[in-house]
Amino acid sequence: MYPEIRINTSRLLHNVKVMVNLCNQYNVKITGITKMFGADVNLAQIYLDGGIHVLGDSRIENLSKLTKLEAEKWLIRIPMLSEAAVIVKSADVSLNSELCTLQALDAAAKQQKKIHKVILMVDLGDIREGFFNQELLLQTAKAVKKMNYLQLYGIGTNLTCFSFVHPDSEKLLQLQKLGSMIDGGLQELIVSGGNSATIELMMNRGLPKGINNLRLGESLLFGRERASYRYIEDTYSDVFVLRAEIVELKEKPSLPWGKVGVDSYGRRPIFEDRGLRIKAICAVGRLDIDIETMRPLDPGIQILGASSDHLMLDITDSEFSYKIGDLVEFVMGYFSTMRAFASRSVAKVYQ
Ligand SMILES: *Cc1c(COP(=O)(O)O)cnc(C)c1O
Repeated sequence: MYPEIRINTSRLLHNVKVMVNLCNQYNVKITGITKMFGADVNLAQIYLDGGIHVLGDSRIENLSKLTKLEAEKWLIRIPMLSEAAVIVKSADVSLNSELCTLQALDAAAKQQKKIHKVILMVDLGDIREGFFNQELLLQTAKAVKKMNYLQLYGIGTNLTCFSFVHPDSEKLLQLQKLGSMIDGGLQELIVSGGNSATIELMMNRGLPKGINNLRLGESLLFGRERASYRYIEDTYSDVFVLRAEIVELKEKPSLPWGKVGVDSYGRRPIFEDRGLRIKAICAVGRLDIDIETMRPLDPGIQILGASSDHLMLDITDSEFSYKIGDLVEFVMGYFSTMRAFASRSVAKVYQ
C-alpha cells in the first residue's frame, strides 16, 4: 500500500547511541521524545535499545500506547485539567505550570493510591509554557511539597519552540539556581535544560553544572540540533523515506491558463514560465506530508506544490524515465514525517 514511510531502524538506533554517548560526556540524561512518531511502540523500543531509560510525549493517549515498555514516562505538554485521572494512570511524571491542575493531579493520585511526580516549568524567554513570575514558581513548589500524592521531581524549561529564543549559559544558570531554591528533598532534582536546541550549547561546553536532563526528539530522529540547525557528526538525517506512487504523467505548460485566484491561505500563487515540462502527480498530499520539509532523492525532480491529496512534481530534468505506477522517494524532515505518522493513509515499513 502506498504511500509508505520506510523507517531505517538501524540508522535510528545508531543516532540514539551517538546521542546517548554525547550526552553522557556532559552528565546529561536523555528523555526520548516520541510525539513525532505518534509513540509508535517499535520506535520507542529503539530509544530504549539505544540506552535511553525515560520516554516523553505531549499527548497522554500516546503515552497510553507505551504501557508495556519499561521506562519512566513523562507527559511533556502542560496537562489538561480534564485529563488528570488518565495522566496519573499513564504518566509517571508531568511538566506543569498551573496550581489548580497540580491540585487535580494530587487528588487523582490519591484516588489511584499512587505517587505522581511533577516538574515545574519556567519560561526563560520563548513565551511558550512555564512560570514567568519567580515568586509564584517558588510558592507553587512549596504547595506541591505539601501535597501528599505529588512528588516535586524537578524544574525545566523549553526554548526555541515558539519565539525561537536560543538557550544560553545565563538562562540555564538561572534555571539551575531556581532548581537549588526549590530543592530541599533527599533526591537530586531533575533540571531539564530544554530540547534539541540545547545540544549546541552543550557541545560548546556552555551547559552550567547541574543541568542533568534534556528532552530530545529531532536530534535523535534526524541527527540535527535545533539552534543553528546543524547536522550532528556521525548521525543519519535520512532515517525516514517516503515512497509515493505516480498516478499521472503528462507534458504540460508551466503556466496555468485562465484567471488565477488565491490559495487556501489567501495568497496568490506565482508561476515561472519554463515552457512545456513533464509533470508527474503522486498520490499523496498535504494531509499526509509537509512539502517544505522533504526533498526528492532523485536530484532531477523538483517539487512544484501539493494540494490535500496530490503532489505535483516536475520530472523533466531527471535521468530516469518514470512511468505510471512507479514510486518516487523523498527524504523526510521533522514536520513531514510527523504528518506521515499521523495520517491513516501512510503505511509504515520497518527496515
Ligand atoms: C517537542 C518537545 C521536545 C522535543 O523537542 P526536539 O526539538 O524535537 O528535541 C522537548 N520538550 C517539549 C516540552 C516538547 O514539546
